[in-house]
Amino acid sequence: MPKNPPPPVIHSARVLSYAFVDDIPYRKHGRLFVGDKLLEAVPRLAIVVNLGKDIGPLLDHCDEEWNVLGTSGADSVAAVMALAELNYPGVASRWVDVNISVEDALRFYDEKTGSATCDFCGKRPFDFGECVWGPSAIICRSCIEAYYQGFQEADSEKPDLADK
Ligand SMILES: [Zn+2]
Repeated sequence: MPKNPPPPVIHSARVLSYAFVDDIPYRKHGRLFVGDKLLEAVPRLAIVVNLGKDIGPLLDHCDEEWNVLGTSGADSVAAVMALAELNYPGVASRWVDVNISVEDALRFYDEKTGSATCDFCGKRPFDFGECVWGPSAIICRSCIEAYYQGFQEADSEKPDLADK
């Protein structure tokens, strides 16, 4: 498997640093469960931050093609690195910094998603989560809920025609 660097954006998170760890003997420290499956040694690690809601730096545990197998997190990049070091001793000297700006990461994300945004509020998929695709438009869940609520309120203000 060739050692390709990761894309600038994994899922909907911007990559800060990455490391190849397939030749580092894995040390069991802490336990990362994905569903009810224990995730241990992986060949690739990436430190990422969400493009959407910022929940701090995350450590993506990836396969050779940078598919995410599991994610853990810590308060700071240094803490994430320290965490990785416990399982992959020596990784500290291997981190490769990725200098991609938020703007470039968003551009990459938009290319990947075909610039899919909600046609009603303009949010990107990482901000809206669920959505409905029509033949020529996309509407996100929060817009559907807002419009639905609007119709409900409008209906309740009308006189009840059935009684007349
Ligand atoms: Zn929307």
